[in-house]
Amino acid sequence: MQQKKIVLLICDGMADRPDKEHNNKTPLEVANKPNMDKIAKEGICGLMNPIGYGIPPGSDTAHLALLSYDPYKYYTGRGPFEALGAGLNLGKDDIAFRCNFATAEKKNDKLFITDRRAGRGEFGLEKLGDMLNFQIEDVKAIFKTSSGHRGVLVLRGKNLSEKISDSDPHSEGEIKNVVPLDNTNSSKRTAEILNKFTRKAYEILNNSEIQKERLNKGMPPANIVLARGAGKIGEIPKFNEKYGMNGVCIAGVNLVKGISRAVGLDVAEINGATGHKDSNIGSKIDACIKELKGDKHDFILINIKGTDEISHDGDFKGKVEMIERIDTVLAKLLEEDLDATIALTADHTTSVTVREHSGDPVPVAILGDVRTDEVYKFSERECAKGGLGVIKGSDLLNILMDLSERGKKFGA
Ligand code: ZN
Ligand code: ZN
Repeated sequence: MQQKKIVLLICDGMADRPDKEHNNKTPLEVANKPNMDKIAKEGICGLMNPIGYGIPPGSDTAHLALLSYDPYKYYTGRGPFEALGAGLNLGKDDIAFRCNFATAEKKNDKLFITDRRAGRGEFGLEKLGDMLNFQIEDVKAIFKTSSGHRGVLVLRGKNLSEKISDSDPHSEGEIKNVVPLDNTNSSKRTAEILNKFTRKAYEILNNSEIQKERLNKGMPPANIVLARGAGKIGEIPKFNEKYGMNGVCIAGVNLVKGISRAVGLDVAEINGATGHKDSNIGSKIDACIKELKGDKHDFILINIKGTDEISHDGDFKGKVEMIERIDTVLAKLLEEDLDATIALTADHTTSVTVREHSGDPVPVAILGDVRTDEVYKFSERECAKGGLGVIKGSDLLNILMDLSERGKKFGA
C-alpha cells in the first residue's frame, strides 16, 4: 500500500459546552457546516481528551500532546515556545521569557509600572526592541518585539537557570525584584542578570528619541520590558526522527509556530495569517493543498486560532460564524479529493459561557481508509457516538499514521 500524507486540522478551542441561552446547544450544533459534517459522515468519529480526562489544556500543552509529545515531560513554560515562534533560535541552555513593553515611572530610584501594556500602542516598539540586544557581564541578552505590545527575551550564557521569578508585577505598582526559586548559584545569578537587564533596558528605552515621538502622538512611553514565564527548551526529539516523516506547520499564532519549531516541523509563512479572528484562513487551506501536492512534507498541521479567541470573548454568535467561515474554506480542500488522511478536531474545549478552556473532551473526525460509523454531523454529542470511541490526544497521531500506512508494527 502507498503511504498517504496526513493533515491534522486543529480549530483552536472550537469545542464547547451546551449554552442555556441557545437551546442548550453548542456553537458546533448551531452552525451550518456541510463540509465538516461531510468529514464526519464519510469518516470515523470519536471524542478525544487532549491531555487526559478532565484536564483543561493550554494550547501549548495540547499541541504537544496532539503531536504525541508528552507535555508533562516536554513542556517547560511558555517562554521558550513564544521565543521560537517569534523567530529566535534557542540553544538547549538558553533561558527564554515572554515580555511586555510597559510604562514605568522612576521615583526615589524605584521603578513603578503605570501601564503594563504601554497603552497597547505599537509605534516604535520594533526599534525599541532592537536596542535591547546587549551584554550583561558574560551573558548575552537577545530581544525581539513580536506582536502588539509583546516581545520575547533570551538570556544566553553559562550557568543560567530558569528557576527564577518574574519581573512582571502582573498589576500596576512597583516592579518586582526577580528572585531565585531554588538555592542554586545559577538561579541566584540568573535572577541578578535579569534585574540588571531590566534596569539597563529602562535607561536605554527611557532615553530613546522614540519616546518623544510617542508622547507627541499622545501615547505613553514604552520605557521598560516586563519578563515572565522563564523556561529552557532542553532536548526534544525531532519529529522526523520519531515518526519518519517531514512535517510543516501552517499557523498564525507564535505559540503554535514555536511548538512546531521546537519539535522540528517547518513553519510555513502565510500571508494574512494573523492568529486572530480576521485571519486569512483561505490562504491556510491553499497552503495545505499546495503541500499535499508537493513532495516536501508528509505531515501538515494547520491551526486556526479565531474560534478560541472568540470563545474567550464570550461571543456565541461570533463563534458560530467563525465555524461557518472555516467550513466554507474547507470545501476547497475536500473538492481536491487528494488521497490523504484528514483529521478535523480541536485542541481543547473553550466554553463561551465560562470564557476559558475546560477539560471536556473534543470531537474528532478522520477521513481516509476508515471504518465509517453512524455519525453524520460533526459535533460534540454526535461524535460521542462514533467508532473511534474516546481517545487520548497522544493516541491521535498513531491512529493517523496507521491509517496512512505509516504505522510501525510492534512484535513479529
Ligand atoms: Zn488552543
Ligand atoms: Zn484560549
